[in-house]
Amino acid sequence: MGNEQNSTHRETPPIHLEEYVALAPRTTLGLGGPARFYAEPTTEEELIAVVAWAERAGLPPLLLGGGSNLVVADEGVHGLILKPRLNGLSFCDEGIIEVGASYPWDKLTKECAQRDLQGIECLGGIPGSVGATPVQNVGAYGQEVADTILEVRAYDRKTKAITTISNRDCEFSYRSSRLKKEAGRFFVLKEKFRLLHQGRPEIRNGELAQRLNSAENPSLEEFRATVVQLRKRKSMVYDPRDPNHRSAGSFFTNVEVTKEQLEEIKKRAESEPPHFVLAEDRFKVPSAWLIEKAGFPRGTQWGNVGLSTVHALALVARNGATSQELVDFARKVKEGVFSKFMIKIEPEPQFWGFSSPRPLETGP
Ligand SMILES: Cc1cc2nc3c(=O)[nH]c(=O)nc-3n(C[C@H](O)[C@H](O)[C@H](O)COP(=O)(O)OP(=O)(O)OC[C@H]3O[C@@H](n4cnc5c(N)ncnc54)[C@H](O)[C@@H]3O)c2cc1C
Repeated sequence: MGNEQNSTHRETPPIHLEEYVALAPRTTLGLGGPARFYAEPTTEEELIAVVAWAERAGLPPLLLGGGSNLVVADEGVHGLILKPRLNGLSFCDEGIIEVGASYPWDKLTKECAQRDLQGIECLGGIPGSVGATPVQNVGAYGQEVADTILEVRAYDRKTKAITTISNRDCEFSYRSSRLKKEAGRFFVLKEKFRLLHQGRPEIRNGELAQRLNSAENPSLEEFRATVVQLRKRKSMVYDPRDPNHRSAGSFFTNVEVTKEQLEEIKKRAESEPPHFVLAEDRFKVPSAWLIEKAGFPRGTQWGNVGLSTVHALALVARNGATSQELVDFARKVKEGVFSKFMIKIEPEPQFWGFSSPRPLETGP
């Protein structure tokens, strides 16, 4: 478990801390060892005080939400894992909502759809907390939180002050943001969204369009319910009864390529790759397709880990799996795609407790 807490640090923590707390049951993959220290602050003041204590003690603080985008090392995490309890939801005027970082994301999408507040209904069924959504600019079925987040209230560990980050300053991009790039700097406390009262979403997803085709003027609840149904068929809703449920959702992000790379992929695959046009010379290619064409079909089993039987992008853990096995398999998939297509696919989840923050990389 690495070094112990700085032995010269004898200051009493400001809130109760638990020791050697199992993290596996707190993640959707269900893998990994314990947290050296663990606490659940219930107010912003408690969170900030315990972060300051951890920094003085030389223990890196990390924020845990629903654990749905995390791979925890088998050795566990030497540090202070904080799972805040900052709930609270208020519906303000003109479609503005304010919501605490710990509020369950899926519940929020449901409540907004019920109130006919449009903007996040296509993001229904995504597990985890509100506070994590700006980190990787959560997105699905043609929507992403960058479209509706007005601002993020966060504790900035660099300036040691609470700050408000505007949508623009979040620097959102595909599955990324400033909060992800400056990992560990901002601890999200609250978010403000601007939703549209009685609006209807632009359907940017073919599957969704097909499903909603027969419905006349579907309500936002119908939109959301249809998305959740589509997601269930791909095991993309966390359900412990589903044999593919132990995943972190998509393990790899989709790739952006040039026209020349797209042609090369086509040549190597001997078939037309599915793609979306992003700009004149930029195309997005689904990594799931590349993975299958590289020789890893859905349901591929590798020891106690493998690919979901219904979605090649989800790596799943089975009984007896370890994080190391999962990481080794992910590396094998990544290398397989590279050797077939000369394309690098990048992991989407965060890795905690590994000696390298990029454990899939083999080179320097
Ligand atoms: C079945 C399944 C389906 C999924 N589908 C999608 C999808 O369609 N689209 C998509 O984008 N993602 C998807 N995901 C990934 C995941 O659900 C999202 O990334 C989600 O936002 C993670 O939330 P969480 O609370 O579980 O974060 P965690 O896994 O707990 O944490 C993830 C990262 O966010 C940080 N973090 C958590 N809370 C905060 C906070 N308050 N402030 C600052 N940093 C914080 C953590 O420190 C960590 O670095 C899916 C996952 C699963 C298991």
